[in-house]
Amino acid sequence: MRYAIISDIHANLAAFTAVLDDIERRGGVGKMWCLGDVVGYGPDPHECIELLCQTNHVCVAGNHDWAAIGKVDTAEFNPDAAAACRWTAQQLSAADVEYLGNLPLLIQEDDFTLVHGSPREPIWEYLISTGIAKENFACFKSPFCLVGHSHVPLVFSYSESGTCSAGQFPSNVKLALGKNRLIINPGGVGQPRDGDPRASYAIYDSKTGQVRLYRVSYNIRSTQDRMVERGLPMRLVARLSYGM
Ligand code: ZN
Repeated sequence: MRYAIISDIHANLAAFTAVLDDIERRGGVGKMWCLGDVVGYGPDPHECIELLCQTNHVCVAGNHDWAAIGKVDTAEFNPDAAAACRWTAQQLSAADVEYLGNLPLLIQEDDFTLVHGSPREPIWEYLISTGIAKENFACFKSPFCLVGHSHVPLVFSYSESGTCSAGQFPSNVKLALGKNRLIINPGGVGQPRDGDPRASYAIYDSKTGQVRLYRVSYNIRSTQDRMVERGLPMRLVARLSYGM
């Protein structure tokens, strides 16, 4: 079975649509694993939830998903993120609110644990250093864990001898799953932050035991125009151009 691993769509319908088209072009998948933050920042929260719900998928809760429905506090958000969150809350239908409210913190499927931030602190923790990663390897039981939240494609590896290392997750390179336990971040669909503005996602093939990252160009300008029309913060509009 093939699975698409997507995270941090962030209400960017143009990016999400481009990723779904890319998945189809590559032969499609049986299921989508979504690592949260479907909404927040971007101009099309309702449309992104609606489109995700048309796919065979599971999704965990992200901080923006729960903040948009008041389930977590926005006190830790910067002013731009908080403003986008207030706007997002006004765009959601009753069904959207119910969908976001029912998202679980953690999902276990196949050999993978799925969370948004980290297995230790699924909503808020950023898994961006080997020190934090090492502590988190003790917080899930499956061989592999998938995380989002930082919007940066990364792979943390934990060897049988207890060494933890971090590496970039370059696109178009087959990552073979082996003995080492791994924490994998597929990057962000709707707001990449690794300096590459293209949408980022991965495909896992359970038959070959390989995960591969893909980058997808999309019409960034159309998303930015929609954000400006909706009065979303200019800093959030600008950062899409740089992937930061
Ligand atoms: Zn996010």
